[in-house]
Amino acid sequence: MIKISKKQDCSGCHACSNVCPVNCIAMIEDKEGFLYPEVDSTKCINCSLCENVCPIVNNKERVNETVSYACINKNETIRFESSSGGVFSLLAESIINSGGTVFGAAFDHEFKLKHSYTDKIEDLAKFRGSKYLQSKIGDTYKQAKEFLDKGITVLFSGTPCQISGLVSYLRKEYDNLICLDIICHGVPSPKVFKMYRSELEKKYGENTKRISFRDKHYGWKLFSVSLLFNNNIEYRENLTQDIYMKGFLHNLYLRPSCYDCKSKTLNRLSDITIADFWGIENIAAELDDDKGTSLVLINSDKGKVIFEELQNKMVVKQVECEEAIKYNSAAIKSVPINTNRDRFFKELDFYPCEISKLINKYTKTSFAKKVYQKIRGILLKIKKIILK
Ligand SMILES: Cc1cc2nc3c(=O)[nH]c(=O)nc-3n(C[C@H](O)[C@H](O)[C@H](O)COP(=O)(O)OP(=O)(O)OC[C@H]3O[C@@H](n4cnc5c(N)ncnc54)[C@H](O)[C@@H]3O)c2cc1C
Repeated sequence: MIKISKKQDCSGCHACSNVCPVNCIAMIEDKEGFLYPEVDSTKCINCSLCENVCPIVNNKERVNETVSYACINKNETIRFESSSGGVFSLLAESIINSGGTVFGAAFDHEFKLKHSYTDKIEDLAKFRGSKYLQSKIGDTYKQAKEFLDKGITVLFSGTPCQISGLVSYLRKEYDNLICLDIICHGVPSPKVFKMYRSELEKKYGENTKRISFRDKHYGWKLFSVSLLFNNNIEYRENLTQDIYMKGFLHNLYLRPSCYDCKSKTLNRLSDITIADFWGIENIAAELDDDKGTSLVLINSDKGKVIFEELQNKMVVKQVECEEAIKYNSAAIKSVPINTNRDRFFKELDFYPCEISKLINKYTKTSFAKKVYQKIRGILLKIKKIILK
């Protein structure tokens, strides 16, 4: 039976709990707010299926001949609501229009992030936009299998580890399955997110009505986090000012497995990978209007077919894959662990002040570091001038 001895060795994908024939595996939240499998040994029949489908125990890779594109959805409204160029929505609409079902990450009424599915175009808004916390897979692998077995086309979107989990769980190839993953920096703790949201709700005096982690009000590159409360007051801070984003980008509260992610490779199990096209201004400046450009990696023939059907709905330019991921190291490399991570989580439940102060405590740039960064910046500018 599955036993997690090192937290880094579990991505929380839920493949084990979905496959268990006697439902004896529950996903239980740990002190940091991440889910891990716990087996009820009194019910376990020792079938070993849980270990056999664990994507970390049985790390699968494919050899892909990835082709990369810079893309923009021509529908400006959808593009504005999306994190980057709005390619997810184009793919999802195409699947639904041909009678298929789309799985993705959406907030429920309590702002818990869960995977679910829809076959309605008007429901796709709930999946749109990146949510910077780990989404709970729940029973969605089982649900996807039911659709697949009935011959219904499924587009399953998620983080690369969630796609590895799904592929492992299914244990057979389905022609009617399209897997879509993202380039993923890492997933933050849902518990930390809840504490951050509660602090803002207290400050603004009302519950949250809407959240966007990728508000483009001030542009795509300097995106903002915005929360709209029930009293219609809106909080909006850009990624350098918002404290939750600061902790996220300092890698302070990612899932332990994210620091040694087994799915960071170009040989992914997904058919298509979508991401922000960071660095687009250096590669295809004509596709950069600071409203959002997607990087799309086509990893399989299935991915190629569906992508080609969308050509007239996008502005597209093929780019060199190596160039394209130069500015997006999260495609192939895990982020380093923040050396204050353990201290942060030890204090989380006991810290006498708000969570923002605790995050600030462990992400503050020291005076010495600020001076070092300033001098380094000046030296780099001088070097650039000399090289010209
Ligand atoms: C936690 C996280 C980290 C990311 N890190 C990077 C990065 O380092 N570099 C980079 O280029 N891009 C990263 N992205 C991806 C990027 O932000 C966009 O999601 C991607 O470019 C797709 O944008 P879009 O405009 O096509 O569609 P959007 O409408 O923005 O994309 C929505 C899609 O993202 C899925 N999604 C949203 N939140 C989650 C979640 N928490 N878990 C699983 N799936 C989710 C939805 O189900 C849907 O499929 C990250 C996304 C997330 C959620």
